[in-house]
Amino acid sequence: MRTRITESLGIEFPIVQGGMQWVGLAEMASAVSNAGGLGILTGLTQTSPAELVNEIERCRSMTAKPFAVNLTILPTIKPIPYQDYAQAIVDSGVKIVETAGRNPEPFLPLFKSAGIKVIHKCTSIRHALKAEKIGCDMVSVDGFECAGHPGEDDVTNMILLPLAAKRLKIPFLASGGLGDGKGLAAALAMGADGINMGTRFMVTKEAPIHEKVKQKMVEATELDTSLIYRTLSNTARVFKNSVAQQVIEIESMPGKTQFEDLQSLVQGVKGRELFDTGDLDKGIWSAGMIVGLIDDIPTCHELISRIVAEAEEIIKRRLIEAVS
Ligand code: NAD
Repeated sequence: MRTRITESLGIEFPIVQGGMQWVGLAEMASAVSNAGGLGILTGLTQTSPAELVNEIERCRSMTAKPFAVNLTILPTIKPIPYQDYAQAIVDSGVKIVETAGRNPEPFLPLFKSAGIKVIHKCTSIRHALKAEKIGCDMVSVDGFECAGHPGEDDVTNMILLPLAAKRLKIPFLASGGLGDGKGLAAALAMGADGINMGTRFMVTKEAPIHEKVKQKMVEATELDTSLIYRTLSNTARVFKNSVAQQVIEIESMPGKTQFEDLQSLVQGVKGRELFDTGDLDKGIWSAGMIVGLIDDIPTCHELISRIVAEAEEIIKRRLIEAVS
């Protein structure tokens, strides 16, 4: 497959693994890159910039193919030394960065001077246009179906992707609700140059999380996600477990919710413990609506090959037949 994204990033297939807190370790990123996609290490999963440097080295020892690092700029419980993380990425010689959350403009001069390609993840067209204007090389357009933070506009990819195709000049990935060949073919049809998948890659053999979490996502339906932090304008789509239900109950109580009312339930360290131990009600974990379409635990290689084969079959047969 060849698109502007495969050409620009030097990858075989237009399939990118989303940056995922606690999941984007070297095992995950290298497996995706070795299978011909673009793997992404999650910067903030490493508790210091020095540890991120080590993780980048570890990933490099596991794949000779390109991989990227994600830098997410959103509210956190502890302050993050973002500039130091950005410098660690540059010093490690990584050539692709995925930024997410707030405007990445402060980091662009550093990244650009190091010849780094920047993919910014956006949940709205206005943010995508802004990313294009400030010099991002491409964007990942994140529909409301996505895991993690979908923004506050609630617009799905059926609208966002054609809009992006109409308005953007730079290449873009479709993100949110993607996990099979139908999604890839549809994303390409709507003007995207490839897809970004997070949740689908969590349910692979190589994903460094407990089997029970993967199995729960296989059993889940499209109704098994919840939106939390709506009252704080920091909405997150997470798996619908008892902790997410408690958070929603607190948020629906009269009066303004303070983050402190939720902190002990949602803190990231508990999510990490959940992934390590398989205790499914230890904390919250990000999951997208695509859980409803996931029903097995393949290797990354099996998954990517299958998605590409299915998309090719749809494009070469189903779509051709429709117009012949
Ligand atoms: P954390 O332990 O610092 O915080 C836990 C959660 O609470 C996060 O979702 C965070 O956004 C939210 N939060 C923290 N302070 C807040 C405040 N004052 N107001 C509103 N919400 C607040 O974070 P973590 O779990 O270690 O994650 C690190 C970073 O990665 C965070 O910025 C988080 O948002 C981000 N993240 C992104 C995704 C995604 O979009 N795919 C998924 C998981 C985490």
